[in-house]
Amino acid sequence: MPNLKDPTLLREECWLGRGWEGAQETLTVTDPADGRVIARVPKMGAAETSDAIAAAAEAFPDWAARPAKERSAILRRWFELMLEHADDLAALMTAEQGKPLAEARGEAVYAASFAEWFAEEAKRIYGETIPSPSRTSRLLVIRQPIGVTAAITPWNFPAAMITRKAAPALAAGCTMIVKPAEQTPLTALALARLAEMAGIPHGVFQVITGDAREIGGVLTESDVVRKLSFTGSTEVGRILMEQSAPTIKKLSLELGGNAPFIVFDDADLDAAVEGAVVSKYRNAGQTCVCANRLYVQAGVYDAFAAKLAERVGQMKVGRGDAPGVTIGPLIDADAMSKVEAHVADAVEKGAQVLLGGKRSQVGPVFYEPTILTGVTQAMRVAREETFGPVAPLFRFETEDEVIAMANDTEFGLAAYFYTENARRVWRVTEALEYGMVGHNTGLISNEVAPFGGVKQSGLGREGSRHGIEEYLELKYLCSAIG
Ligand code: ADP
Repeated sequence: MPNLKDPTLLREECWLGRGWEGAQETLTVTDPADGRVIARVPKMGAAETSDAIAAAAEAFPDWAARPAKERSAILRRWFELMLEHADDLAALMTAEQGKPLAEARGEAVYAASFAEWFAEEAKRIYGETIPSPSRTSRLLVIRQPIGVTAAITPWNFPAAMITRKAAPALAAGCTMIVKPAEQTPLTALALARLAEMAGIPHGVFQVITGDAREIGGVLTESDVVRKLSFTGSTEVGRILMEQSAPTIKKLSLELGGNAPFIVFDDADLDAAVEGAVVSKYRNAGQTCVCANRLYVQAGVYDAFAAKLAERVGQMKVGRGDAPGVTIGPLIDADAMSKVEAHVADAVEKGAQVLLGGKRSQVGPVFYEPTILTGVTQAMRVAREETFGPVAPLFRFETEDEVIAMANDTEFGLAAYFYTENARRVWRVTEALEYGMVGHNTGLISNEVAPFGGVKQSGLGREGSRHGIEEYLELKYLCSAIG
């Protein structure tokens, strides 16, 4: 385990309504880089989940009734504590998730930004007055918190995927139960410890670790839980949506992506290479907004491939806590199998390996940063999210052709394109069937902009002024005065 400046951030108990609680059975948390056990967290199930729901329901009326300014001040404190403890949060993330320390620290700051932003938004949950169609009535709309909410979060951003949900929920006056990914519970529990230090009342924010299906089953079945926010695979999103149907739960789903990254002939190639590196290789390619398919126009294809290979060839694979490392381990052996299968399929169907294309000597879950050329739409890399450090380069001739290829997927999360032609910017942006588009950048996520996808990439938006709406209901008042 890493040495923490504040050792109280390493928790092996859940943060529930009554405080910290353990369980007889535990789940082991391992360092993906070497498989070593670093901690054990409680394996909780249905009974504890029901208790957490009851505690969240009990805490809700008081939390919702507090003036927004008061909730805002507490969230602001949470934000400040995350920044103060950014090094510890980073150390925990690198230990259980594997990402390079500098990236982990970046995530800690990014995670904190949601608490800051929604602490500010808490004070701006305005209502409306509507001019009445009659002389004898007055019409008003107020916004109220939806009630008890739940979040199920993934391992690739162990901190930010929690604060992006919990901060708007708490700002709105909701209470929230978080079930983090089994691979990365320590970051979630550290955030709970910081929530405790910030003075977030018992029951308002809880973190429960354990059996995903059992906990998810109880959370979705409950009529008390009025909203579920999920980030993860489309497959599990579908299951949770189905399970939420009987109680007509409000849902936010942030699911898989298959991001196209388009480089036109008129692009600034050096900028495009930098953007591709950031978008493709961050977190070893394990983000849902990672460039999954790189479409390069014929006129610059060879030049782009050469420049990208030169740049990517300088990346360093290794443990996330080793100096200078830019590519950490994959999360587990299954992730490795998928990456290997995608590369093997592409090569079998005619792609060439320009760089990498194999496991790294560093260890069994480390994959070399890879570039494939001569890739076609018939290969698995074109259809499925690889979730690894593999950049497949597709060649295209015309704008219409590349738009059709980019949109030929059931996903619609993020897309990127590089061009210096201003006329093309609007044309391409409007034609791409994606929730988020990056022009001349490979990095689009921040707390002030709406994050989310279309098609089977999900429902709803997180971050921005829209993110808080997911946790609010409108109530219309018709007051007869005649
Ligand atoms: P990934 O493939 O990135 O691990 P998953 O969708 O499997 O994505 O996991 C995302 C989150 O969903 C994790 O917290 C995981 O524990 C949880 N999860 C997985 N399966 C279920 C399920 N059947 N019910 C509830 N939660 C689930």
